Amino acid sequence: MFLIDTHAHIYLEDFADDLDQVISRAKLAGVDRIYLPNIDEKTLPDLNALVSKHPSLFKPMIGLHPTSVKDNYREVFNELFDGTDLTSYCAIGEIGIDLYWDKTHVREQTEIFERQIEMAKDNHLPVVIHARDSFKEIFEVVDRQNNSELTGIFHCFTGTIDDARHILKYGGFKLGIGGIVTFKNGGLDKILTDIDPENIVLETDAPYLAPTPNRGKRNESAYIRDVAIRVAEIYGKSLEEISAITTENALKIFEG
Ligand SMILES: [Zn+2]
Repeated sequence: MFLIDTHAHIYLEDFADDLDQVISRAKLAGVDRIYLPNIDEKTLPDLNALVSKHPSLFKPMIGLHPTSVKDNYREVFNELFDGTDLTSYCAIGEIGIDLYWDKTHVREQTEIFERQIEMAKDNHLPVVIHARDSFKEIFEVVDRQNNSELTGIFHCFTGTIDDARHILKYGGFKLGIGGIVTFKNGGLDKILTDIDPENIVLETDAPYLAPTPNRGKRNESAYIRDVAIRVAEIYGKSLEEISAITTENALKIFEG
């Protein structure tokens, strides 16, 4: 059985003390591959260093996260992308609009989000989208940009069934399902029963949003198993079946 964690920030300092154990626990849990979404120009060197240490397990993304878009966003953007060979990355992520923490830079966030979508299309790369309190703003951009070239994941999906349908209508997108699916009153179970499992991929978003029974603690890729078990339960399928389906879905996005 192989599981793919499509979204984990294992290069962050949260894992510096026990990285080897985190990796061996992930492998024991059946995790075969972990995709690393970037945050900004400061996190990229650590992300790249982790990938070069374990190139078959970790796969790198490059992107500017919306919460790192401030007044100096053009400089930051150039520092991140200037002279970068995009062919060594498997996706542009994570990118998007986040209006939960701060609405001050919504215009700048939208500009950078759209620019990164265009780069992804130009380079035949998928996008990994972070949406928080911002489906309306995100949909405006993706409605405008969507074509047969655009594919990707709406990571940590927590929208309504209408939001899910809007995303799946684009044609090239999957929903990233993480720890929230294991939370009582998380509400994702009702949405999943209305959509086919071929539309989802699994993720942890480690170190954030650990699934039950580790809710509130540091999250890590091994816990993807708890997400997979709950998703299997919702669909009335075996863990092996859900692993196979979601692994295939993830490879379809990242490997084309
Ligand atoms: Zn993330």
